[in-house]
Amino acid sequence: MKEETYSGVIYPVENAVDKEIPPELTKLVLFPPRSRRASGRRKKTRYPSTGEKLVPKVKKLIPNKCTKCFQPEHNRSTCHKPT
Ligand SMILES: [Zn+2]
Repeated sequence: MKEETYSGVIYPVENAVDKEIPPELTKLVLFPPRSRRASGRRKKTRYPSTGEKLVPKVKKLIPNKCTKCFQPEHNRSTCHKPT
């Protein structure tokens, strides 16, 4: 069984060319998503681990503002404004 798997030799295809794209697809105008969100788990939804002490938050004098739309109370990663 194992010998059969490795017995053959595979050669790369010469002059590899992309498959022909049908005209219906080339006519389509595609845009990237209207908004981007950072990958990974969002910090706001993280649960504190067992035994983890929650430090009480000290309010900042100047609140943070979104760098995309310059509105307070949210940041760039949670902004709903399209890019
Ligand atoms: Zn914003």
